[in-house]
Amino acid sequence: MGRGKLIVVSGFSGAGKGTLMNALMEKYDNYALSVSATTRAPRPGETEGVSYFYKTDEEFRRMIENDELIEYAGYVGHFYGTPRVFVEKNLEEGKDVFLEIEIQGAMKVKQKYPDAVLMFVTPPSAAILRERLVKRGTESPDVIAARLKRATEEAEGVEAYDYIVVNDNLQDCVETVDRIVKSEHNRADDRISLIEEIRSELSKE
Ligand code: 5GP
Repeated sequence: MGRGKLIVVSGFSGAGKGTLMNALMEKYDNYALSVSATTRAPRPGETEGVSYFYKTDEEFRRMIENDELIEYAGYVGHFYGTPRVFVEKNLEEGKDVFLEIEIQGAMKVKQKYPDAVLMFVTPPSAAILRERLVKRGTESPDVIAARLKRATEEAEGVEAYDYIVVNDNLQDCVETVDRIVKSEHNRADDRISLIEEIRSELSKE
């Protein structure tokens, strides 16, 4: 089996990325979801090591110094970063690894891993985005306002993404993402070695 694909998923806060990732992981065996480190506090219902690895500023700084993170970025007052070991190990094992990260991090990943696939997930409309963010009920009005503002800024880098996926119906969206990843495995530069093998076998006859 070949090396796995690195799939970066970004999108507006409230686009339903978390739910989408969980549904993908449940449905397909060959996908792995990276768990990020963050300095923000856990939300109710979140679990250490599953949702995030929760770090103090000092611990996070040390991870940066020790080069333990593929990338990191600031987001509405806190740091978030992708631990390297999990990603590398799973890619080596042939798993497709999903990173659910914001746009600055996505750009850094693309520099380090040029064959990474960048997807931007969006709800079908601004009204639905606002409704989802408010309904989640885990953030104060100030934080929701800051996140909506950041959402509009976030959209400015969207041209750099390979795919824009609309998350209207969850199951449809899960299948769309799966189809994209499967297609990416059929890219010529991924499959060229197979053709080389066939040619060399044929030339022996
Ligand atoms: P939240 O606080 O809602 O869990 O996440 C805030 C933002 O940080 C989201 O856009 C999420 O995708 C992003 N994020 C989560 N983990 C990482 C990471 O490891 N690196 C970067 N750059 N962004 C992250």
